[in-house]
Amino acid sequence: LIQPADRMNGLPTQFFAKLVAKANAQTAKGRDVINLGQGNPDQPTPPHIVAKLQEAAANPLYHKYPPFSGYPFLKEAVAKRYKEDYNVDIDPSSEVAILFGGKTGLVEISQCLLNPGDVCLVPDPGYPDYWSGVALAGAEMSFMPLTETNRYLPDYDAISPEIAMRAKLMFMNYPNNPTGAVADAQFYAKTVNYAMKHSIAVASDFAYGAIGFDGNKPVSFLQTPGAKEVGVEFYTLSKTYNMAGWRVGFAIGNAQIVKLINLIQDHYYCSLFGGIQEAAALALTGPQQCVADLKAVYESRREALFGALDKIGWKASRPGGSFFCWLPVPPGYTSETFADILLQEADVVVAPGVGFGMHGEGFVRLGLLTGEARLQEAVQRIGKLNLF
Ligand code: PLP
Repeated sequence: LIQPADRMNGLPTQFFAKLVAKANAQTAKGRDVINLGQGNPDQPTPPHIVAKLQEAAANPLYHKYPPFSGYPFLKEAVAKRYKEDYNVDIDPSSEVAILFGGKTGLVEISQCLLNPGDVCLVPDPGYPDYWSGVALAGAEMSFMPLTETNRYLPDYDAISPEIAMRAKLMFMNYPNNPTGAVADAQFYAKTVNYAMKHSIAVASDFAYGAIGFDGNKPVSFLQTPGAKEVGVEFYTLSKTYNMAGWRVGFAIGNAQIVKLINLIQDHYYCSLFGGIQEAAALALTGPQQCVADLKAVYESRREALFGALDKIGWKASRPGGSFFCWLPVPPGYTSETFADILLQEADVVVAPGVGFGMHGEGFVRLGLLTGEARLQEAVQRIGKLNLF
């Protein structure tokens, strides 16, 4: 009786749902599973932000429908943060769209800009949500391989003129999920040049913008001259303030794209609960020590993990940012067979690289999402399998 629309055929199934099911099955056997596979921050939202939501929830104004594109005070808070952190001037009234987490905007931008037959340039490996919007738009993906040799940055010279001509949108994501790579100002300048030359819109996913290591502050795409002419940056409170469950994100930059995203959102939603918007504004404009503390936690976890990896002879490069580590699998395994062995024999969940694209094969992703002792224990358990 029920006949799904053709566009649903193009939607990839959730690779990571399979991973969760396998991990749950292992836990159900009574095993002590250490889950480093998912990207869910393990620490709570800072208490001052929670307290603001509790107070704001009682405001009767917020019990009514919010304004369609959200409250101006939240957009002003975003503009203030970008000015302070990146010295970028943002017009809150026309250059910020409020999203239900970065995820919704990352899907909507493809629907806003791509026609069937258009090409979208997508990093491989990359965050799988980019694929979904392209599929819903009936457009085609052209993968840009990210390799260690290229510091996990796309090589625009390797894109054929035919693909460049058909491409209308490009995704990029630094600090990068899953590789932990970071980009510099020079790369972004090259990106803006390439995008202008070929009339390609840029979607810069800055979900891990607050998490840069070794004293390096990640560069925002919007700091690049000309960036606002070609694209938007997706910014989210999920990782920066441990607010993944609150679902607050933004598209910031090009006013035309912001307008299109607001338009498509007007048809789906009527913005976030006002109390959440007020607490989100406080997150952005209130004390920022929590962000520095969070970064320090991830950095010392990274050191604990890499110290343990060294001891078992698992050689890899440290991530420059994000909370992910990208580690090569030993010879004789695929990323999936290796992840299976780790789950079955060490009770450790890691994400197989192939879930992020073909060029993710040969790697697994480990998240720095539990305390140092558990990270070290996970590596010790893996060491006992003598695979390195
Ligand atoms: N972009 C990347 C690269 C991510 O890893 C994630 C979440 O894991 C998101 C975007 C989505 O974040 P949000 O919680 O804002 O939807």
